[in-house]
Amino acid sequence: MLLALLFVVVLALVWISWRYFLLRHHAAEYARAIERTAKGEMPAQDLPSDIPGLETLSSSIHAMVTGFRAQLAGVETERSRLAAILDQLTDGVLIADEAGRILLANPAAEKLLGEGSGLSGRSVTVALRHHQLVEAWRKCQQLGEMQVETVELPTSRQFIQIVAIPDRQTGGSLLVVQDLTRIRRLETVRRDFISNVSHELRTPLASLKALTETLQEGALEDPPAARRFLGRIQTEVDALTQMATELLELSRIESGQVPLELKVVSPSRLIQSAAERMKMQAERSGLNLHVDCPPDLPKIRADLPRLEQVLVNLIHNAVKFTPPGGEITLTAAPQGGFICFLVHDTGVGIPGDDLPRIFERFYRVDRSRTGGGTGLGLSISRHLVEAHGGRIWAESLESRGSTFFFTIPLA
Ligand code: ADP
Repeated sequence: MLLALLFVVVLALVWISWRYFLLRHHAAEYARAIERTAKGEMPAQDLPSDIPGLETLSSSIHAMVTGFRAQLAGVETERSRLAAILDQLTDGVLIADEAGRILLANPAAEKLLGEGSGLSGRSVTVALRHHQLVEAWRKCQQLGEMQVETVELPTSRQFIQIVAIPDRQTGGSLLVVQDLTRIRRLETVRRDFISNVSHELRTPLASLKALTETLQEGALEDPPAARRFLGRIQTEVDALTQMATELLELSRIESGQVPLELKVVSPSRLIQSAAERMKMQAERSGLNLHVDCPPDLPKIRADLPRLEQVLVNLIHNAVKFTPPGGEITLTAAPQGGFICFLVHDTGVGIPGDDLPRIFERFYRVDRSRTGGGTGLGLSISRHLVEAHGGRIWAESLESRGSTFFFTIPLA
């Protein structure tokens, strides 16, 4: 009996030891598997969930690890989405810690501030360079309030704006850096344009007022003088009407409201037709207008009436700025994939300093010699040529003459 009992106890002990040994073995193997999963050497889904004796524990750990992995993948997707947005942003973004060390800088910030030299790890004060920008960041840190500052960088002449936003959780800050150069330039152009228009209107309006006042004050009683004054009034009104028409035309062209009707056009036909229209005017001014253009030039794609308007504008200027006895020559020649048109005159010429500016709205070299022009003709011509995919420019020697060139793509 005792022997049997002893046998049962020994058997139980052996069984328990065996079970204990198995459990330790499985637990050790499981620990190794968890370690490999943590190191990323084994995919989470391969982690066993049915370890004998540890089924509940292993299946819970398996569920937990799989959950973590899914969350991590979600965070990773979100992170790369944000990184892509930051990379694509045209505004620069800097994230700095409490001490002002840059933790993150997107490519736009590198371009605007760092000249591509790697801003991460640098100090905000070094990166921002300009003392007013640094001051804005300091204020943002001290007061914990958003600060906005705009400066013009002296070396690059860029207008840079920073918006410094405090990060109350970390004590650091987020800086948004914007390049406002283009917007500032547009504002200047708009301001100049308005002041030019007002100025151009004021002169003819003042002379209209003076003429009507003179008529009212007695000139009406003197019919020959009255007729002279009326003639001058008509000239001023014509000039105002021309300016209004050209301004409207310019604004319609600039806002793309003038669609070009492109057709296959012969360059020599275009030149001949413009020359026909201006011949009389040239003759009346004592000038010789002649065409020197081969008839068999390759054809171009152009809106015939609009391109003829460009040529007429250029010939009209040549007539205005060439003293009697002078020559105006029209020619065209192939140039790469283009035909280059030339309007040459032997007139007063354009000073070198003014040459790059004559295509600007209202720009006139010398107001006294313009013969009533508005200063808009070349600006309209430039827009029309560029709308055709071409380029317009001028070369000139003072008191020797000028040559205007423009190119139009071949058909
Ligand atoms: P405008 O109506 O005054 O002629 P444009 O825009 O056509 O206006 O020309 C701008 C200025 O360029 C003119 O006022 C003139 O000073 C100069 N210019 C244009 N064409 C010639 C030319 N062929 N010879 C000399 N100066 C010219």
